[in-house]
Amino acid sequence: MSKETIFSKIIRKEIPADIVFQDERATAFRDINPQAPTHVVIIPNKLIPTLNDATPEDEATLGHLLLVAAQVAKQEGVAESGYRLVINCNRHGGQDVFHLHMHLLGGRGMRWPPG
Ligand code: AMP
Repeated sequence: MSKETIFSKIIRKEIPADIVFQDERATAFRDINPQAPTHVVIIPNKLIPTLNDATPEDEATLGHLLLVAAQVAKQEGVAESGYRLVINCNRHGGQDVFHLHMHLLGGRGMRWPPG
């Protein structure tokens, strides 16, 4: 069984977080250490440790995360100016929390390539 992270506690509202969106499949909350004026973390409510652990059964949930991201971007007022979505996977990807998540970054210009 996968090991729960702090994100499971956020989903269940056992610890405080600034949740900007939640439904039966996904939760989105403000990153505690924002890297841009808008920095929201979007996660599946189901614990999937990394993208490598996703299965065909998770396909609809993964697609849902993208639609939630677009909705949150609109809600946050960055949809038109633009934003970046990032999924870090494992060590070289810079993943620290092993509950699959997507970063939504906006409110400033993004450099390419990322560091
Ligand atoms: P990653 O490095 O891709 O695993 O990203 C994990 C992100 O979760 C980091 O940007 C952290 O700042 C953020 N984070 C960790 N704990 C919390 C928390 N309790 N509330 C909000 N964001 C968090």
